[in-house]
Amino acid sequence: MNGIGSIKTVEGLERAGLLGQRGRDALADVAARYAIALTPTVAGLIDRADDADPIARQFVPDAAELIVAPEERADPIGDEAHSPVQGIVHRYRDRVLLKAVHICPVYCRFCFRREMVGPQGLGTLDANAMSAAFAYIRDHKEIWEVILTGGDPLVLSPRRLEGILRELASIDHVKIVRFHTRVPVVDPSKVDAALIAALRVSGKTVYVALHANHPRELSDEARAACARLIDAGMVMVSQSVLLKGVNDDPAILAELMKAFVETRVKPYYLHHPDLAPGTSHFRLAIEEGQKIVAALRGRISGLCQPTYILDIPGGHGKAVIGEQSIRETGEGCYSVSDYRGVEHLYPPAA
Ligand code: SF4
Repeated sequence: MNGIGSIKTVEGLERAGLLGQRGRDALADVAARYAIALTPTVAGLIDRADDADPIARQFVPDAAELIVAPEERADPIGDEAHSPVQGIVHRYRDRVLLKAVHICPVYCRFCFRREMVGPQGLGTLDANAMSAAFAYIRDHKEIWEVILTGGDPLVLSPRRLEGILRELASIDHVKIVRFHTRVPVVDPSKVDAALIAALRVSGKTVYVALHANHPRELSDEARAACARLIDAGMVMVSQSVLLKGVNDDPAILAELMKAFVETRVKPYYLHHPDLAPGTSHFRLAIEEGQKIVAALRGRISGLCQPTYILDIPGGHGKAVIGEQSIRETGEGCYSVSDYRGVEHLYPPAA
């Protein structure tokens, strides 16, 4: 499942020269708790001379992961509270998550499902659980969209994916099938003819939401993998997480969003980091995030603007946190900030 040649241990990281200043002993404790995986593509993107390399920060474990802040929780976005049958999360009326697999080609150090993914995680749904999940989708006619996530659904073999999609194709009320994946950037050669053929579902519209957080992830190979998906008729959107030390800088974020648009991937969500255990070193204050998002507005085209959102802890869904650009100054009167931070009255003074 994970690509051959992936690094999955602290010793492997050391052999590959990827530990930097990180202490080997402390990392053993991290590795005992959370899965590690870096594909050869990801290992190749890391600048070993830079201790603060933003790609390494996303994938190489850090002793800071052992510090659990009081507000952090094992299920930060409340999947469990909305799971009527194994593998299904039904949080919003018209769509469900279908978590067929809890394996990923890489393990992100800030992962919001880090307690569920990995070799010690929730595994892959067996045939009975898959049948129950399909029966749930079939019985709920309000379900318009099925989002395959997990885990990364594109670690499944084309044969398994074909089987899942054949079932979904037979459910009339499902019109949209969406995949959440990192595969095109972390293992672009996996996006081959067999995978693409498996992802095409007769009679359904297929969306692929690509998770990437730094412009260097959009390598030539990654862009070519996206082009293969899009040329085969899939629509691509992006998902990124706003991460301290990775992309908490308007210039980096602007470059990332432009790289998506150049790749024909429409920027979609910019997530505020979730309260997953041992991830406080990645989190910035919401006000800082709002300032960064406001700075993006003046820098890049509207086509490149993502929606900055927070998943409300406890399973209450997403809230747009955007930027603080408007405040009420009196009845029916507002002060609106432009992209330079200059305030203007609305309606303007007579
Ligand atoms: S790919 Fe997604 S599910 Fe997998 S470790 Fe990264 S954030 Fe978590």
